[in-house]
Amino acid sequence: MNLLTDILSLTKDELTERLSKMGEKPFRAGQIYRWLHQKRVTGFEEMSDLSLTLREKLENEFTLCRIEPVRILKSQVDGTVKILYRLPDGNHIETVLMSYEHGDSLCVSTQAGCKMGCRFCASTIAGFKRNLEPSEILSQLYETERQTGRKVSSIVLMGIGEPLDNFDNVVKFLRILSSPDGANMSLRHVSLSTCGLVDRIYDLAELNLGLTLSISLHSPYDEKRSELMPVNRRYPITELMRACRDYFSVTGRRISFEYALIDGENDSLEDARALCGLVSGMPSHINIIPVNKIKERSYRSDRSSAQRFCKTLCGLGVNATVRRTLGADINAACGQLRREEEQKA
Ligand code: SAH
Repeated sequence: MNLLTDILSLTKDELTERLSKMGEKPFRAGQIYRWLHQKRVTGFEEMSDLSLTLREKLENEFTLCRIEPVRILKSQVDGTVKILYRLPDGNHIETVLMSYEHGDSLCVSTQAGCKMGCRFCASTIAGFKRNLEPSEILSQLYETERQTGRKVSSIVLMGIGEPLDNFDNVVKFLRILSSPDGANMSLRHVSLSTCGLVDRIYDLAELNLGLTLSISLHSPYDEKRSELMPVNRRYPITELMRACRDYFSVTGRRISFEYALIDGENDSLEDARALCGLVSGMPSHINIIPVNKIKERSYRSDRSSAQRFCKTLCGLGVNATVRRTLGADINAACGQLRREEEQKA
């Protein structure tokens, strides 16, 4: 059994408290935090302005999480990099680095697998293993910057897993990420995507962290949405939209909706009209994504249908755009690399 504490998962306050129990002064926490999160050392011995005794004490009390890249795929068309990481316990997750005009954005996983069961999603097919620790979410940023030499300017929690199903660790990750002695990233540059765990949306609103909430909607009708996303049976659309309005009124942040367009499933004129009715009067943005093909399902769509649907929505006065397709040559649909790796095992 590992009795050492995972130091990268501690908030600065938690580290300060631990160090004070070890008889260390509070300023040491800031010093160590900067070594960990800014200089990003890979061992305590590298913390050269600490005494040897303290470095040894740290070694005896803490572990430093490291995730290992096992496959790195680089797109030849648009600079997208997709990395399959092995976690310390042998599970696998995926991270995708995307390049946009405004800078590089990193899509991180929050769980090894997913329990939510969305029909079109590859992450769910390989099954749920466990929640990620804050250190494992953070390490996707640190290791990807290390591996690629690129600087990430925004983060989307849209990789494998349902972030609100790992609420406490995700919130801790966000606190560490935005700590001035840490990576110091403003949470204005972070988006969290959820399939719609309504209770947790209220909890998140209360924390008012300043991040963008992104809702995976995919249909304006309960019957169809429940078919595509089983979570809708527990949290139907009316309740979800109520939580979205609450999130906006508490945080003042416009809600973003994801809409994976699927031929013959959710792409009719009635769908567009109903969608328009749902978001009317609420500051929002709808992101249309032609569904990514996965081999277990026959769902299809293409860019031209997405553009047509988007035009219809815009004509109805809805703020909508088609998401740029990135990494088409490296099959960037989330969860596919992990599933291949698990199948090998
Ligand atoms: N669990 C969270 C975040 C991870 S999924 C959520 O559901 O939002 C990130 C986004 O990718 C979600 O909008 C999800 O619905 C979408 N997605 C999953 N599989 C997809 C596919 N095959 N094609 C298009 N979008 C997909």
